[in-house]
Amino acid sequence: MPPWMPEDTVAAAIREAAQRLAASSDTARLDAEVLMAHALGATRSELLLRHMGGPVPAGYEALVMRRIAHEPVAYIVGEQEFFGLPFAVSSDVLIPRGDSEVLVETALAARPRARRILDCGTGSGALLLAVLSQLPEAHGIGIDRSPGALAVARANAQSLGLAERTALVEADWHVPCWADALGGPFDLILANPPYVEDDAPLDRSVRAFEPAGALFSGPEGLDDYRILIPQLRGLLAPSGLALVEIGHAQADAVSAIGHAAGLSTQLYRDLANRPRVLGFW
Ligand code: GLN
Repeated sequence: MPPWMPEDTVAAAIREAAQRLAASSDTARLDAEVLMAHALGATRSELLLRHMGGPVPAGYEALVMRRIAHEPVAYIVGEQEFFGLPFAVSSDVLIPRGDSEVLVETALAARPRARRILDCGTGSGALLLAVLSQLPEAHGIGIDRSPGALAVARANAQSLGLAERTALVEADWHVPCWADALGGPFDLILANPPYVEDDAPLDRSVRAFEPAGALFSGPEGLDDYRILIPQLRGLLAPSGLALVEIGHAQADAVSAIGHAAGLSTQLYRDLANRPRVLGFW
């Protein structure tokens, strides 16, 4: 039995759900609205303008229960906006974070004429497809070791009208010769590899629901950088640039990995002024 009565309105059900969600979410009211819009098949503005006095859809309570169990809203509704674009997401991919938009902005500012782009660990395709959406002459390859992630990225390339300029390839930088068939070199390389320490204290909604293979990278979170960064030089065109997302406390350690590999580095910060991206060339 839903905790609201059949004669209740959408507005009353949202109010009640927001109270129950407050224990598991910092954004309880917003979550309650987004889940209601999804249950109604409406946008959030349609919900607020047209549906608030209407009847509560049957599926709403099940969605609220999933959120109370800490499942991220993006997985429940199957979508996350990134760089102003709608991306399909599933539990096979990391949910694109607003913090990663600085990597896209840096790429567009630093290499506005890039033609050949490689995205290492593409997941939903968010980084690659956001960059391609702004560079109509460019072609991109997204690689991932997860077939489930590649299926999500392919769906996004299609829905964003970028499939003709995007190749999505199963590959793993831990495997020798993984890049031989990709046809480099590249003007721009993007990467948001796993970089979380294995025992880091993470929100339950992250640790229990997002793919471990996209998050964790050894005791210091540096294992993937140690494998991937020394391989960048061989993948970059002479004037190419690689942009790699880092955790905010990892700038020195990851720069040192680049310097040891003979690369120059530059640090870029996110909107909160924290270290977020390292450039390598
Ligand atoms: N930014 C993500 C988080 O803190 C981690 C992303 C990653 O490991 N690539 O949850």
